[in-house]
Amino acid sequence: MRIILLGSPGAGKGTVSKLLIAYDGSVHISTGDILRNAVKAGTLLGKKAKDYMDRGALVPDSLIMDMMEERLKEPDCARGFILDGFPRTIPQAEELEKLLAKLKIDIDLVVNMEIGKEVVLDRLTTRRTCSNSSCQAIYNVKTMPTKVAGICDKCGSPVIQRSDETEEAIVNRLDTYNKQTAPLIDYYGTKGMLKTIEAASSETVVNTITKSLKA
Ligand code: ADP
Ligand code: ZN
Repeated sequence: MRIILLGSPGAGKGTVSKLLIAYDGSVHISTGDILRNAVKAGTLLGKKAKDYMDRGALVPDSLIMDMMEERLKEPDCARGFILDGFPRTIPQAEELEKLLAKLKIDIDLVVNMEIGKEVVLDRLTTRRTCSNSSCQAIYNVKTMPTKVAGICDKCGSPVIQRSDETEEAIVNRLDTYNKQTAPLIDYYGTKGMLKTIEAASSETVVNTITKSLKA
């Protein structure tokens, strides 16, 4: 499958992506994960991106587009891909369209994962992420705790609260989403590519996506 996942921070795009790659072997491309790994590895991209990310602001489009062009040219994308966290602005969507035309790739579906603001705030403040960059398992202190407090079930590394998951950064990320990313819902709606799915349950989202791809 070749799909774009839209949805506010905390909508569950990461969880849904992981279920979808298990379904058909498509690759999960999370711009947030790529950027966090770049920050950790101390690359030039990481150095340029870190301040924006810690504030909950968007990294400049030009950096993102260079990074994504490189990623979409990787051979594993031939298996299909799930874009999680990209495009994030109208200019990114326009640039992506040109890039995909150049690479002769068509998108099957754009999914808008819809979720209430209270649910999102609660999910984000209780979310914990495995600190091992090759694992990045996601937990929730309320709904999906680790078996041993603070330790990843899968790899044994410490689980942490992301530096952009302080209350202030979360409020900024939601505000950034509403101003800069939500307009993409109309953008793709007008093109007839959009499917909006109520995102309370990740399983429901995945089932709805796989059904509409078969149809
Ligand atoms: P979220 O939970 O907010 O959806 P992500 O993991 O997708 O978080 O992204 C984390 C941060 O990385 C964002 O707050 C932003 O600073 C940066 N980022 C990720 N994707 C993009 C993008 N497509 N354009 C600009 N900045 C991005
Ligand atoms: Zn882990």
